[in-house]
Amino acid sequence: MTGSIIDRVATDPNRVIVFDTTMRDGEQAPGFSMSPDDKVRMGRALKALGVDVMEAGFAAASPGDEDCIRAVVGEMAEDDSGPVFCSLSRAIEGDIDASYRALRGTKRRRCHVFIGTSPIHRAAKLRMTPDQVLAQAVRSVAYARTHFHDVEFSAEDAIRTEPQFLAEVLEAAAGAGASTLNVPDTVGYATPDEIASLYRFLIAQIRPNFPNVIFSTHCHNDLGLAVANSLSAIEAGVRQVESTVNGIGERAGNAALEEVVMALRVRAERYGVTTGIDTTKLLETSRMLSEVTHSPIVRNKAIVGINAFAHEAGIHQHGMYADARTYEIMRPEDVGFSGSFFVLGKHSGRTAVQKRAEVLGYPLIGDHLNDAFAAFKTRADEIGEIDDAELIAICTATQRDAHVAA
Ligand SMILES: [Zn+2]
Repeated sequence: MTGSIIDRVATDPNRVIVFDTTMRDGEQAPGFSMSPDDKVRMGRALKALGVDVMEAGFAAASPGDEDCIRAVVGEMAEDDSGPVFCSLSRAIEGDIDASYRALRGTKRRRCHVFIGTSPIHRAAKLRMTPDQVLAQAVRSVAYARTHFHDVEFSAEDAIRTEPQFLAEVLEAAAGAGASTLNVPDTVGYATPDEIASLYRFLIAQIRPNFPNVIFSTHCHNDLGLAVANSLSAIEAGVRQVESTVNGIGERAGNAALEEVVMALRVRAERYGVTTGIDTTKLLETSRMLSEVTHSPIVRNKAIVGINAFAHEAGIHQHGMYADARTYEIMRPEDVGFSGSFFVLGKHSGRTAVQKRAEVLGYPLIGDHLNDAFAAFKTRADEIGEIDDAELIAICTATQRDAHVAA
């Protein structure tokens, strides 16, 4: 892994590694499947965005998935500035071999090995004792290390695993050669306080023997807490965050990459960490994903929804004209919008209507302003949002009325 992004950033204690799993966890959820061509396009966009690790798929899932990972890596394989490419593998040799076949064209490759560790996963899914789970984790990580310098180990359903057993499995995986230890909240069950305490416990247990291991978080959004839990994990010392564009993923999704990254940036004074993400590319990446998966972004979605920087209410518009900081905590340009967006509707004030009309070539003054504003309110009650064409119609109609009256 010499020269990879991970080597460079792992030496900076305040740098958070952004692990993107849009094309694996995201793509495996209903409604978000992507064609190989779509994945190649997304892969280029994610590289431009600046993700550190790109989980391009689950090679053993099908021969098609294995081919698709190879296609995503494609021409980026030899680019030194590119991300590390990753394939998910169950803790079995066949899966690890499939990941190796998919990724052997690049030196910047990671194998992500997982096994369920919680009582319910051990008993119902794996039918294994805790000792058997631990032994298989160690065996598979050691095997993965024969093909990969960079191995990540995940304890699936970690949050519902007995903390002491979880620490034992993770430490054993580190001993077998895993350099990243992931603690997934597979079912989206954790709360922010709880997850921070768990990481503090795990770090205190494992760090003394493995000072360079990187702890990772992977949160699901079943209770709407994925981003909050990820931020809490980072505060507790985690330095890799697994996330997806637009928060797509199994069931209610994963932590949204754009939300985690912007929270770290906007509240930098609190978190004190950085990422390698070019935030000005967040919007275009989000829209590309929306387009290739035919899934519209909900308008009030944080960071990338079309309402994220839109203002309709008169009091808010008035404040925004005076100083955008009155109602905005970040600049729209920082995430890729060209500016704030003023929507004219029944909540808008006289100043906003007058300013927009002026831009459109209709300077409203005196009675014309009064008449136009009254007509605007009536029309807004009827149809909601007033676009430029509607506003022009109102301005010309009231102008004519004013002439007739004179
Ligand atoms: Zn997941």
